Amino acid sequence: MAITALSGLSLRGGDWLGGDLAMDLGTANTLVYARGRGVLLNEPSVVAIDTRTDTVVAVGIEAKRMIGRTPDHIKAVRPLRDGVIADYDSTAEMLRYFVRKVLGRRSFSGPRVVVCVPSGITSVEQRAVSESVYAAGARRVHIIAEPMAAAIGAGLPVNQPAGSMIIDVGGGTTEVAVLALGGIVASTSLRIAGDAIDRAIVDHVRTQFGLLVGERTAEELKIAIGSAYPIAAPLRAQIRGRDIATGMPRDVAIGSDELRRAIDAPILAIVDAVRTTLDRCPPDLAGDLVTRGIVLTGGGALLRGLNARLQHEIGVPVLVAERPLDSVVLGTGTVVEHFEELQKVVVAGHRR
Ligand code: ADP
Ligand code: MG
Repeated sequence: MAITALSGLSLRGGDWLGGDLAMDLGTANTLVYARGRGVLLNEPSVVAIDTRTDTVVAVGIEAKRMIGRTPDHIKAVRPLRDGVIADYDSTAEMLRYFVRKVLGRRSFSGPRVVVCVPSGITSVEQRAVSESVYAAGARRVHIIAEPMAAAIGAGLPVNQPAGSMIIDVGGGTTEVAVLALGGIVASTSLRIAGDAIDRAIVDHVRTQFGLLVGERTAEELKIAIGSAYPIAAPLRAQIRGRDIATGMPRDVAIGSDELRRAIDAPILAIVDAVRTTLDRCPPDLAGDLVTRGIVLTGGGALLRGLNARLQHEIGVPVLVAERPLDSVVLGTGTVVEHFEELQKVVVAGHRR
C-alpha cells in the first residue's frame, strides 16, 4: 500500500471513532492526535515540581514558562531531556495530564494508544511509558520507533523496496535511519540535537562576552538568527544576560556568522551521524538515497541552512519535510488511522 497517499490525512469529520490516540512523546514537545480528528494537543514536555511537597504543580506550556524563573522550591524538569527517562514519576504525571486533557470528560471505552518514543530508550523505559499510558485509561498501548513514525509522517514511501533516509533533529536526540520494505535497515540515535546547540550558545556567550544567559534565551537567539550554512544577508541580534564580573544585567550584540561558528561542534556531530548511517547502509540502498534524496525533519530542521549544510558535507540532496515539528505525530496518527494494515511497523505492544 502507498503510505505517501495517506500521510497527509489528518481530519475526517467530527465523529469520535472510539477515541484512539497517537502520541509523540518528544524530548522537547509532546503532541497528541485523536483518530478521526487530527492533532489536538501540542505542548512542551516539561513538568514543574514543588520540591517541598514533591508534587507536580504545572505541566506543559505552563511549566515551560517557569524554566529559569521559578522560586527555589519550584523545579521545572524535562523528564525526557536527553532521550532517556530521567524521572519515571514526572513522566507518568505528564502523560496522564496530556491524555486527560485530550479526552476531557468524554466517556470512552478505553482507547487504543500508539506512542512514539525516542529510539534510544530501553525496553524497561518503554514499559514504564506504556504503564503510564495504561494508568491514564488506555485499553491497549503500542510503541512505535521514532524514525519510522517520522518517515511515515514526512511522506516517505517506507513500504517500498527502495531505501529512504530520514534525519530527525529534535531537542535531546537526533535520529537518523534508512528504511525499506516497512523496516529500519540502519539507524543511529545521537544525544546531540537542538538542546546541544542551545548549550553551545550559552558557552560561547559566557567565554566570549563574560555574560551568563539561560538556555531559553539561547534558544530564542538560535531561532532568531541561527544558521548552519552561510546565509545571503547576515543577521544580528541583541541578547541580555548577567555580567559574570559585576552581576549586573548587560546587553551584547551578536551576528549570525559568529553564532554559526559557535554551534559548529554539535552541527558536525549531526553530520557525522548521517555519514556513519550511510556507511552502514547496504550499497544498493545507498544508491537509492543518492538519487531520491534524504528528508530532514524535527524542530531542528528549521535551523537556517541545516539542509544545505548536510547536502554540502554529504553530497546527497537533503529536503526539509513540510511540517517538521508534526512529522512524528502525523506518522503515528497514520498508524492509528490504518492500524490493521500498518501494525507490522509497530515495534512493541505491552499488555498490562
Ligand atoms: P522533540 O521531538 O525532541 O520533542 P522537536 O522536534 O519538537 O523535538 O524539536 C524541538 C527542537 O527544535 C528544539 O531544540 C527547538 O529549539 C528546535 N527548534 C524549533 N524551532 C526552531 C527554529 N525555527 N530554528 C531552529 N531550531 C528550532
Ligand atoms: Mg521528535
